[in-house]
Amino acid sequence: MSEQKILKCSFCGEEQVADRPLIAGTNGHICQSCVHLASQVVNSWGKRQAVTRPIKKPPVPAVIKGTLDQYIIGQDDAKEAMSVAVYNHYKRLVAESKTTGMGFTDNDVEVDKSNILLIGPTGTGKTLLVSTLAHIVNVPFVIADATTMTQAGYVGEDVESVLHRLLDAAEGNVGLAEWGIVYIDEIDKIARRDETASGPRDVSGEGVQQALLKLVEGTQVKLTDKSKRKESASEVMVDTRNILFIVGGAFAGIEKIIKRRVNPKKTDIGFHASPTVVTDNDEEDLVREVTPDDLRYFGLIPEFIGRFPVMTMLCELDKEALVRILTEPKNALVRQYQKLFQYDDVELEVTDNALLAIARLAIERGTGARGLRGVIEGILQRSMFDIPSSDTKITKCLIDEKEEGIIVSNLPLDEDDKEDMVTVSG
Ligand code: ADP
Repeated sequence: MSEQKILKCSFCGEEQVADRPLIAGTNGHICQSCVHLASQVVNSWGKRQAVTRPIKKPPVPAVIKGTLDQYIIGQDDAKEAMSVAVYNHYKRLVAESKTTGMGFTDNDVEVDKSNILLIGPTGTGKTLLVSTLAHIVNVPFVIADATTMTQAGYVGEDVESVLHRLLDAAEGNVGLAEWGIVYIDEIDKIARRDETASGPRDVSGEGVQQALLKLVEGTQVKLTDKSKRKESASEVMVDTRNILFIVGGAFAGIEKIIKRRVNPKKTDIGFHASPTVVTDNDEEDLVREVTPDDLRYFGLIPEFIGRFPVMTMLCELDKEALVRILTEPKNALVRQYQKLFQYDDVELEVTDNALLAIARLAIERGTGARGLRGVIEGILQRSMFDIPSSDTKITKCLIDEKEEGIIVSNLPLDEDDKEDMVTVSG
């Protein structure tokens, strides 16, 4: 009887025992710890590939802004600030890709990221701006909502869930996720209720800010890999040092705080009384004057504000800007509806007057450009219902504005008579 051969790991020489089996290959065997080690090594290759992959020569800020211009109307200040931030994000990515693999860069200077704070009323293009940017940069991107976040231990999403989603967006590639962009909307909703309040701690507001601090600054977060892609690894470490955090919010009412600062009450005397008296109530200009101190009074904690060195504003969109939004961007709303009508071989035309009227109605809704779609839906709903089943072949749908309001006319083939008229609004 031949003696049973003792199997050994071909990598470390560890012998097979009953509770530590080996995996057999064609010419050798491997033990569990060597599998783990090999997986770690391969993951680190992934990281290096991920950071070297998307970049050769970064687009310069003017080119980035040029691309943003195709999608976003106005908001030049914000577009410029964001283009520069993203250009720098690229440069840091290039620097990192030149990392020797020993943990230091070729010139040993590590450039820190500059997270961004966007202030602008709802529907002015904050989300659109950030998502367009992420598209240009070609890095994983997620949008999170600060209102759903809670401090760890409370019911709700804890702040780390955003990293889970980033990892999903990177299809499980940790190296790529570590260069992603996270946009946290409604950041003003996690403001502390009252700056001077001495009541119980505000766990949903200040607590979330505290929880976000570390994440935003840069930390190693251990995540349980919930994706099915990686059957073997159950935990992954994500380093948030290079993740670009952009937060945005409407900060409704901040102009009152700024006004109080630049235009103090008459009762203010002495050293703190400001000689400049701003009587102009132009709130948009006022918001441009925002300082970190104003944000602190609004309810953001100083440590949180300090982690967003780039602060930029988006302004309220006026009627003219809304008309441009309706027609100019690559996927402008009017173009989208024209395409919908094209499926029924109907040409959709919107006159200049009607565009202005639609913009006016959207402004009345007070939801910025977001209101435009609702207004157009309301105007076109009847036609979209009638045209596909109409007995007469409709070839054109015209939206115009007359004294009686916005008129939609469905024009039949060969006839210029108005077949169907719908008055929508005065
Ligand atoms: P916010 O995040 O500021 O509340 P969004 O970016 O979500 O607003 O804007 C909502 C919609 O309004 C966008 O999907 C886009 O269609 C339109 N929109 C808003 N602002 C602009 C803009 N400046 N240029 C083009 N479209 C815009």
